[in-house]
Amino acid sequence: MTTVKEISENPSLCYQCTKCTSGCPVSDEMDMAPHQLMHCLALGMEEKAMAANTIWTCAGCYTCSVRCPNDIDITSVMDDLRQKAVKMGIKCAKPEVLSFHRTFINSFSGGRMHELRLMGENNIRNLNPLHNAKLAPKMLLTGRLHILPPARLKGFKNWMKKLWKK
Ligand code: SF4
Ligand code: SF4
Repeated sequence: MTTVKEISENPSLCYQCTKCTSGCPVSDEMDMAPHQLMHCLALGMEEKAMAANTIWTCAGCYTCSVRCPNDIDITSVMDDLRQKAVKMGIKCAKPEVLSFHRTFINSFSGGRMHELRLMGENNIRNLNPLHNAKLAPKMLLTGRLHILPPARLKGFKNWMKKLWKK
């Protein structure tokens, strides 16, 4: 069994007040609520915590960390556990989230995100090329999705500006 040494926070500081869980917007989807996960870690059952779907369901919203009266950064604990679970090859309870995470990391271009590429790559990776495709036109119209990557889009806009000045 692994120890809690590599987790950035000290779970034994948790006194099980459940404020983290009561504020968590996705706790209903978790098989182990955030306060239960902290209890698990305090007992040294790190591998059980890493096998739960909790770490992959967490949306990283920081509500739990802000609400904790002991200033435990629970969101970072979730991050630490995810990284450690991947390194240790622990079976991911939500493979689609891990797949999205990997696509997300790969889809940065020059430090910026290209959402269209992210959607496309993620769909291909999951063998579902048209997943959420009906959302694309609305997102394009509202500027939430761009056809060109950010760097090229900036170059294109500058080129258009110059063209209009002529
Ligand atoms: S960071 Fe994760 S665990 Fe914490 S409240 Fe948000 S979704 Fe829940
Ligand atoms: S809010 Fe903090 S002290 Fe309370 S149960 Fe959650 S982690 Fe433990």
